[in-house]
Amino acid sequence: MTVEDTVPPEIKLTTNPDHYTLPGHPYEEEGYTASDNVDGDLTDKVTHEEKDGTVTYKVSDSSGNETTVTRTIVYDDPIPPVLALKGDSEITIQAGSDYTDPGYTAEDNVDGDLTDKVSVDGSVNTYSADTYTLTYKVQDNYGNEATATRTVTVEPVRQADTGNPSGKIVYLTFDDGPGEYTSKLLDILSKYNVKATFFTVGSGHPDLLKAEADAGHSIGIHSATHDYSKIYASEDAFFADLRKQQDTIENATGIRTTLVRFPGGSSNTVSKSYCSGIMTKLTKDLTDMGYQYFDWNVTSGDAGETTNTSVVVQNVISGIQQHDVSIVLQHDIKGFSVNAVEQIIQWGLAHGYTFLPLTAESPTAHHGVNN
Ligand SMILES: [Zn+2]
Repeated sequence: MTVEDTVPPEIKLTTNPDHYTLPGHPYEEEGYTASDNVDGDLTDKVTHEEKDGTVTYKVSDSSGNETTVTRTIVYDDPIPPVLALKGDSEITIQAGSDYTDPGYTAEDNVDGDLTDKVSVDGSVNTYSADTYTLTYKVQDNYGNEATATRTVTVEPVRQADTGNPSGKIVYLTFDDGPGEYTSKLLDILSKYNVKATFFTVGSGHPDLLKAEADAGHSIGIHSATHDYSKIYASEDAFFADLRKQQDTIENATGIRTTLVRFPGGSSNTVSKSYCSGIMTKLTKDLTDMGYQYFDWNVTSGDAGETTNTSVVVQNVISGIQQHDVSIVLQHDIKGFSVNAVEQIIQWGLAHGYTFLPLTAESPTAHHGVNN
């Protein structure tokens, strides 16, 4: 008696939960078994074919019963790209110098070179001493992300003590103060060990006059009143005003200064409307008396052309590049101008300039007398 076998064989697929196939890579067979109620183990008889992401397994038993099962290939890429920084991951630069990122490369096991896909978060302000973090990120086409960070420390550059300066010299001078921004300015100058010169007006802030002197800055006379109609009315009027400011400075600091800057500069013509020829007399008198008067050869524009800190910075930086010895005119009663000083110093120190206070022997940058 013949018993008809109508039960087909069974195919069991081995499934490895950790297994995946990298996109673009050939599938590696994970394995299978086949068995039949009559024929027993039929694993050796199984055929399989891979096509379009599907593997089709077939086997027949001795009675011709056929079984077909399929496996869908899981293409997956769990491996993130490798994001590598060029250069050091910790970089220190001096304030005012240029920062150029050394760059990076990104390489993925599936996607290949992903360097063009890297994004950078963060930026470096070389004009502000601080530590900055740059975060680099890249994703491959399967959403695997790689990140890298770089810290860039911007160090304040302190001017070395300048006993015997050489190279390019900058004299920063500040007129019309002391005022409400003078303390901030003194802090900035101190941070970089830079000495400047204050051509002072009036007696409203003896404490600030003293602070300027104590910090080693030069103090000069601008005037007691800054009132053109009074100081340029006559020689007597001018020298009465000058002596008053001389006394104010001496009372506050103990210093008798010989440094003078004329309100409006020695070339001013406004004095002509109060006293014809007075500048010719005053410049000769002052020199004969042992004073030194100073004009300037770099204008910051803060006297009226601009109220913009960035413009002041640019004016001064471009100005001092025109001279081996620069005398820069700014006003410490103007906050936007004081705010420009740190960038000016940083740039100057980074580019080899030495900042000095004016003394009796310093260059004077005389404009020439027009009245
Ligand atoms: Zn002035």
